[in-house]
Amino acid sequence: MQTFSFDPVTLPPAAAELRREVRDFLAEHNARRSPLDRAQSWSGSDPEFSRKMGEAGFIGMVWPKKYGGHERSSFERYVMLEEMLVAGAPVGAHWVADRQSGPLLLRFGTEEQRQKYLPPVTRGEMFYCIGMSEPDSGSDLASVRSKAVKVDGGFLITGRKIWTSGAHTAHVMIGLFRTGSNPDGRQEGLTQFLIDLRAPDGTDLKARNNIQVRPIRSLLGEHHFNEVTFDEAFVPDSQVVGKVDNGWSQVMSELAFERSGPERYLSSIQLVLEMIRELSSNPTPQGHAAVGRLIAHLSTLRQMSVSVAAKLNAGLDPALEGSIVKDLGAVFEQEIPAIAQAIFNVEPRIGKHASDLEQVMGFLVQNSVSYSMRGGTREILRGIIARGLGLR
Ligand SMILES: Cc1cc2nc3c(=O)[nH]c(=O)nc-3n(C[C@H](O)[C@H](O)[C@H](O)COP(=O)(O)OP(=O)(O)OC[C@H]3O[C@@H](n4cnc5c(N)ncnc54)[C@H](O)[C@@H]3O)c2cc1C
Repeated sequence: MQTFSFDPVTLPPAAAELRREVRDFLAEHNARRSPLDRAQSWSGSDPEFSRKMGEAGFIGMVWPKKYGGHERSSFERYVMLEEMLVAGAPVGAHWVADRQSGPLLLRFGTEEQRQKYLPPVTRGEMFYCIGMSEPDSGSDLASVRSKAVKVDGGFLITGRKIWTSGAHTAHVMIGLFRTGSNPDGRQEGLTQFLIDLRAPDGTDLKARNNIQVRPIRSLLGEHHFNEVTFDEAFVPDSQVVGKVDNGWSQVMSELAFERSGPERYLSSIQLVLEMIRELSSNPTPQGHAAVGRLIAHLSTLRQMSVSVAAKLNAGLDPALEGSIVKDLGAVFEQEIPAIAQAIFNVEPRIGKHASDLEQVMGFLVQNSVSYSMRGGTREILRGIIARGLGLR
């Protein structure tokens, strides 16, 4: 049985200095975004903004300098992330690469892969997507069926990935495919591959590589997700990440990065800000009490999440604590629209004549349902927590 701990952490002085620097950057480059655009949080994507962040040294902050990184601490990266999220900055284009694909390559990639695939990420010029889920393999990721068959000099990949966020704009997919000969081998016989979708100059490589990307529109009509089909797509041996057939344990360590950051409780922050704005012109005791309660929850989640960052900084594996923060964070993010609706008696709606509060509420009522699915569903996370605590 594991135990978990959330030790109190005080951010170092360098983090406070960086916070000022990030706020100056945001005042210059993010001031004109509407509240509705800001509500997209880390799903909002703007390649030009990513390039500016790269120039400012805000991507790959903790990575080694020899790969374009800045060798700063996890705390400094944490402060940069929370400032970007609270400001609703459009960080989505480079988010996956900075959060998990880069750390994955630093841990398991070859020297050649690191030199080729990391520096453009830190410049905000190369974006990644994650090819894990399949039509019949979501929560049960070990049942992945898309396969990579060994041929001379590489592998031929055939199969279908689904819900692939950003595959239409990404340069690279890191995908998980079955390489083992025993299809019932479950966690054995899975391998991760780096798959080029676009050249660094933006040239589309998908058709040439026998890959098709089709949009899946969300409830809001937006295009974030895709279905990606591979029809004997050739991937050279040099694109295997880590060891052949070792993909399962690599993916598990990647998911620890995916689940532990401040984006797991700050996705609805724009609505809290709109509530505060509304209350400053129309104060009510009921509104103050509701916002006060939300801020108390927010600061507790933040303490817990910073403590996870401290563990990552110390080289520990906070998978259990990260799962707890993600689960509690999603509950928090999802309850905010209903609280706002009860306090202000306005309907969620998006359109020219709606107020900022109504629009942000309208976006989040429809979008926040997904916050407890992406990155692992509530039931799966609670299963992990229960197993970690020896309860199942
Ligand atoms: C916004 C968003 C972005 C995403 N982006 C990506 C991406 O970029 N790349 C990618 O690969 N995937 C992505 N996904 C897919 C995501 O990882 C899956 O949706 C998720 O893993 C759940 O899989 P599923 O949709 O197949 O649901 P299922 O696994 O079919 O689950 C359906 C329901 O059954 C429950 N359930 C399943 N198994 C169990 C169990 N053993 N015990 C109890 N309950 C269970 C689940 O909790 C859920 O409520 C994204 C999803 C969302 C919502």
